[in-house]
Amino acid sequence: MGMSLARIFGIALDVLFGVRESCPACGRLGSANSLCSECMDLIPMARPPICSVCGTPLRGGAGRGDAEREVCAGCRGIRHYFECARAPAIYEGAAREHVHDLKYRARVEIVPGLSRMMALLAVRTGMADKCDSAVPVPLHPDKLARRGFNQAELLARSVAMLLGIPVIPEALSRRASTGTQTFLDRRRRRDNVLRAFVCDEPARVAGRTVLLIDDVITSGATADGCARALLRSGASKVRVLAFAVSVADERDWAPSRNSFGGAVVS
Ligand SMILES: [Zn+2]
Ligand SMILES: [Zn+2]
Repeated sequence: MGMSLARIFGIALDVLFGVRESCPACGRLGSANSLCSECMDLIPMARPPICSVCGTPLRGGAGRGDAEREVCAGCRGIRHYFECARAPAIYEGAAREHVHDLKYRARVEIVPGLSRMMALLAVRTGMADKCDSAVPVPLHPDKLARRGFNQAELLARSVAMLLGIPVIPEALSRRASTGTQTFLDRRRRRDNVLRAFVCDEPARVAGRTVLLIDDVITSGATADGCARALLRSGASKVRVLAFAVSVADERDWAPSRNSFGGAVVS
């Protein structure tokens, strides 16, 4: 695809400073810094009830008592390293399309629109309070080489600018993969991911509250791996902010069904 990092940042900067005055998603007249209202209406939003820990929507949990304290099936069986995770959108439909446009079609002009939604959520929920810096989830080295850019880093730079906090793009790195994960069970896979990240900037995260940025939260294992590395390097807290969150566990859609045969990881 041959798009240099400089060119991508160049486009991102053009967009940030409003050279284009059209919706970055559909091209209709509007602001380049936010999606137009038609595009916003198409995005499935992660509205309550959501898991109070990982932010996943609890569709089956609606009406089951105090929405503020609802916890999804996944989070009931796992001790997360991050304090909380939130995303404005559900990883479905238009939200999934935007992420795919960014990641696989290098449509980096969408970054300001998505990161604006993320920053607004961080402010509204108090996640941004006393946050010292933003750190992107690093891309796997092979993927970075192939894609040429890390979408989480683009989002982190933009979110950090909107929140007025510094970004530490090189804080984390991901160890090269050690073979296929396909035949490993859920617990073994999670253990591998937990150990896959290294903090390369301990002096800059020690004693700090870090806002970890990713495009999508799925099982939370990646975020936990990053949070673990940051905490081991002395970070005091890690909060996770993504653009979209997937429905992590089918049990939250149909509470009576246990699709994993009881194998909840610890
Ligand atoms: Zn639009
Ligand atoms: Zn959860």
